[in-house]
Amino acid sequence: MTETIKCPKCKMNMSKVTFQDTEVDACPQCKGIWFDSLEQEDLKKKKGSESVDIGAKNAKVSSKGQKLNCPKCKTRMSPTHDLRQPHIVFEKCSVCYGVFFDPGEFTDLKKTTFKEFIKDVCT
Ligand SMILES: [Zn+2]
Ligand SMILES: [Zn+2]
Repeated sequence: MTETIKCPKCKMNMSKVTFQDTEVDACPQCKGIWFDSLEQEDLKKKKGSESVDIGAKNAKVSSKGQKLNCPKCKTRMSPTHDLRQPHIVFEKCSVCYGVFFDPGEFTDLKKTTFKEFIKDVCT
């Protein structure tokens, strides 16, 4: 996986961000993050992985209402609600299963997942 992909939102070349063994693509401009199919699930389980969410601190952009095409296979992506946290909406490609997160969304997703994880452990 060495190809460079372009941000579905601002068409900038995305840069590789590696966390442990998982490599994701982050946009230097809008700070969005692209995950290949299982990378997101993978990374969500790893402690501290929200560090790939480089724009989380000043997150104010949102792709809601925008039509984005998959940077890999050019399929029109559809907004998908997270099952556990319906307030989080991310773009998902129905063909290659890649997902695109706006800055802050991955951190948000992880936070509650972690809380729920603690809850699961404690009950
Ligand atoms: Zn971008
Ligand atoms: Zn795709």
